[in-house]
Amino acid sequence: MPKALVTGGAGFLGSHLCERLLADGWEVVAYDSLLTGRRANLAAAEREPAFTFVEHDVTLELPDPGPLDWVLHFASPASPPDYLDHPIETLRVGALGTMRTLELARDRGAGFLLASTSEVYGDPSVHPQVETYWGNVNPVGPRSVYDESKRYAEALTMAYGRTYGMNAKVVRIFNTYGPRMRIDDGRAVPNFVAQSLSGRPMSVYGDGSQTRSLCYVDDLVEGFRRYLDVAEVGPMNLGNPEEVTILHLAELVAEMAEVPKQIEFLPALVDDPTVRCPDITLAGRWLGWRPSVSLRDGLRRTIEWARDAGWGNG
Ligand code: UDP
Repeated sequence: MPKALVTGGAGFLGSHLCERLLADGWEVVAYDSLLTGRRANLAAAEREPAFTFVEHDVTLELPDPGPLDWVLHFASPASPPDYLDHPIETLRVGALGTMRTLELARDRGAGFLLASTSEVYGDPSVHPQVETYWGNVNPVGPRSVYDESKRYAEALTMAYGRTYGMNAKVVRIFNTYGPRMRIDDGRAVPNFVAQSLSGRPMSVYGDGSQTRSLCYVDDLVEGFRRYLDVAEVGPMNLGNPEEVTILHLAELVAEMAEVPKQIEFLPALVDDPTVRCPDITLAGRWLGWRPSVSLRDGLRRTIEWARDAGWGNG
């Protein structure tokens, strides 16, 4: 069976990916520093004999995971409050962590997948965002610690692919939500869900006219899985093109949670992208992939999970 190292394996996306690979019969080793990941996310994975967890920061020399078929590099703070709280760690994992994991993949003759982000497009002047768009990023603003870190990680991944003939892939992940987001993650969906379930007003930054396009986590993981099976390597968007304003997202959360809509408008964030929507033509062509879970259904499932996880008591 194939064997993968998943860095950031205890994170929101990493843990879902580990479970999916295990379900497909893979052997999986997960590394995570637990800076923003949580061991509890791996409760199901850790019941599988084919799974190993190692608490490790991938910016430091890597422990030996043995032979590998894939290195899937998902380690990084990803929520704006997390990367703003950990700016240097974010830059280190995008630079040193990507370098070390690429070297490991090269050494083992393994394929490599970089979890990149729609943030590489910055505040985009091309809409929806297609992979050939180079982006509009403030290189020195507070968000640059994430945006530029991932842009550098992409450059490194593509250079390793070209220089060493490696099977090195880049996926640009658009906003994703679902079970296992942290209650204090700080992103719009967990904030709005936690606030709604505990009877507090939802915090909308700015006037709420900015847009995002939100993908349910299971759809995204299906896309990752398919991407490993095709020959193509270039940067590829994965996300759900169902675009909504943040104000509308807040309304939908209140509706799905069946609570009265309460909104508190707070100051806009610095360099907050005004629009975001993936062009997923490429993923359709390469993988035959498109998301299948609507925003309403995904929010309903996420809210149900959050209720079970006790978010309403917070
Ligand atoms: N946002 C908001 N209230 C919140 C959290 C986020 O209005 O409590 C806004 C944020 O300003 C951004 C959008 O929702 O315009 C998406 O933010 P999120 O942090 O979820 O993801 P991002 O796309 O910024 O990485």
